[in-house]
Amino acid sequence: MGQIFAADVPLGSFQELPLSCLRSSSGLGRLHGGADCGQLRSALAVHRLEVPLMLAVGDLCTHCAWPLPGEHPLVAFAEAASSLTPLRARADAAGDEAEFLAGTVTQPAGRSDSDAELEGQRRRWRRLQAQLLESHTVTAAYPWLASWVEPMRTGLAGAVDCTRRSLASLLDEAALLEAACAAALPAPALEGGPALVGPGPGGPWLVQEAWACWQQECAAGWDGLEAGRSAAAAAVYQAFGSRRRGRAEALDALDRLVDDWNTQARALAAQHAAACRYPVTVDLLPLVRAHGEEGEEDWLTYWEAGAIVVYQVATDWSAGSVDLLVPGPVSDQLLRSGRLTGDAEDRDRRGS
Ligand SMILES: [Zn+2]
Repeated sequence: MGQIFAADVPLGSFQELPLSCLRSSSGLGRLHGGADCGQLRSALAVHRLEVPLMLAVGDLCTHCAWPLPGEHPLVAFAEAASSLTPLRARADAAGDEAEFLAGTVTQPAGRSDSDAELEGQRRRWRRLQAQLLESHTVTAAYPWLASWVEPMRTGLAGAVDCTRRSLASLLDEAALLEAACAAALPAPALEGGPALVGPGPGGPWLVQEAWACWQQECAAGWDGLEAGRSAAAAAVYQAFGSRRRGRAEALDALDRLVDDWNTQARALAAQHAAACRYPVTVDLLPLVRAHGEEGEEDWLTYWEAGAIVVYQVATDWSAGSVDLLVPGPVSDQLLRSGRLTGDAEDRDRRGS
């Protein structure tokens, strides 16, 4: 508690909470949680006292623990306050970063930038964003912290937006739209649909299988249509297994089909590229701490992250949502993946 409750943390309804402490009988030195504390051992005599939390903070030993039952409300508050402690340090550093990033955003960033850089920016954007979202969850539960936290949030919000713009400058908006259009195309028919020629398992079912892989891969990432081609080919490789006979012909036939699917998706994208944009609101998913390993899981796909980054026009941090202005197929894809807030009403309004 001595580490969590710095003297400036507002205590709200916990101000008067009596905290059982030990102190050297001289009346000097810090307040301790246990008699076995190394800082207390040199004292000739120790006495126990109850101190209201508001008077104790700032005087608490940073080595001691104060055992409390897990359900004690102070435990949850301490956890909440603890989750904010790094925010201030991060916000201070983020101010410098924001300036740095503001300088880099204006420089042209080509597609030659490595995947590692993109991935680094994405993770950074999501982590900063998650910190900001978490701080709003904390202040919703403990409103008296809001005015203390607000100045820290301002710097962090600036850093989140700089990172977002930096990431957006590395992404290809046309590829994101084409990916959404790929996801909107109807699947090829099973009955009487196209088949892969030659001997081997080349029937319409394999075309459907390859199509599903192509569509899924296109819709999940931010590289657009070409990412789908190798996923479709992988389905053919898997179907053929160790058999070689007929595989090359099947892959050739698939290549032509993928060309056709890409053409359809691009044609649809061309119709929507300059068409009107729709306002939608997307819930920002928090990051989930990964079980048993370092880091965290992110339930936003790369494509979803890309769409948010590129089409964002406003944020509502307390609601944990962002407003986007998107082409129709992007809105449809966000709806399909269940990311839109208040789907039904928005769609009704759009339709009317
Ligand atoms: Zn101590």
